[in-house]
Amino acid sequence: MIEREDAGLASDIVAYSMEELKKYFEGIGQKPFRAKQVYEWLHKKNVDAFEEMTNISADMQKQLERDFFIEQLTIVKVLTSKIDGTQKFLFRLRDGNVIESVLMRYKHGNSVCISTQVGCRMGCRFCASTLDGLERNLTSSEMLKEIYTVQKYCGERISNIVLMGSGEPMDNFDNVVALINKISDENGLHISQRNITISTCGLIDNMKRFADLGMQVTLALSLHAAEDDTRKELMPIARRYTISQELEACRYYFEKTGRRVTFEYSLVAGVNDNIGEAKKLVSLIRGMNCHVNLIPVNPIKERDYQKSSAASVAEFKKYLEKNGINATIRREMGSDIQGACGQLRKSFIEDET
Ligand code: SAH
Repeated sequence: MIEREDAGLASDIVAYSMEELKKYFEGIGQKPFRAKQVYEWLHKKNVDAFEEMTNISADMQKQLERDFFIEQLTIVKVLTSKIDGTQKFLFRLRDGNVIESVLMRYKHGNSVCISTQVGCRMGCRFCASTLDGLERNLTSSEMLKEIYTVQKYCGERISNIVLMGSGEPMDNFDNVVALINKISDENGLHISQRNITISTCGLIDNMKRFADLGMQVTLALSLHAAEDDTRKELMPIARRYTISQELEACRYYFEKTGRRVTFEYSLVAGVNDNIGEAKKLVSLIRGMNCHVNLIPVNPIKERDYQKSSAASVAEFKKYLEKNGINATIRREMGSDIQGACGQLRKSFIEDET
């Protein structure tokens, strides 16, 4: 039998790798091919109960029920945008916490934006997810179930995943790596690693560890400024690492993976949207294999940051492009349904208490 921290209690079967499941079946005197069958039920056919596993005998189903539980998220609310069909899901976890995920429909396919933690401890000034700090990490199963539950609900294939919901993925490293391994596994949903984007505020040590894994995932760095002083005003992480250290980690990521890095830049009126900052940005990243994603900041009621005007956003973009830097303005998806990270969860918790 596999050693488990919670020996004696039912284990989280969705978190088991194929190898671990094989060992489990061997341990109870069963053929290892059972592992593949059960794994596919859990990760491809996405069942919520052992009794739905029709090629597994009733006795075996009972034994599985004794030894394991299947992680489940309860849908509390689904908001649908009238503008673009984007859907925001509020899920309740088994311990009562709530998290949110977003389904975005693009021409190139359906994309799900998932949360990686309950809350966040990074403290970015403009972000709603971090206002109450970190509650806990999500398990790999809970993150997988965000995707599976959305796919089941909409009945359409999910082809892209972005780790850009609440939480800092690099602050939940092992579970995030386990999630990526499972979601890209051919025995599961088999979503190409190239269709997965992981966004970080810049935890350098873990970005380098992640680079060393050589996955084909796109890395997005939340840069949000070109001057260290401006970045410090927006993000506490900037007190730990300089922009040049962040960029060095991104270059390292490119060297190890060959993947073009994305820089996210949320434009805040009067703070980081002036042409001086754009100029500095150009001098920092010119020649890098990269892409800049400009996001007009989505104001939250707890802070007085304002969105840059459409004209300043366009001017910022034009300046980057004129200087050979690839830039896009992120389409605002679902702006009528509390689109910014963590806003829905926050307002739900406030209403409940
Ligand atoms: N912790 C990760 C993922 C967070 S959310 C990270 O920091 O990258 C994904 C992106 O949305 C980040 O770039 C984050 O800085 C940005 N973001 C969060 N709240 C925002 C808001 N209210 N307006 C605009 N961008 C926001």
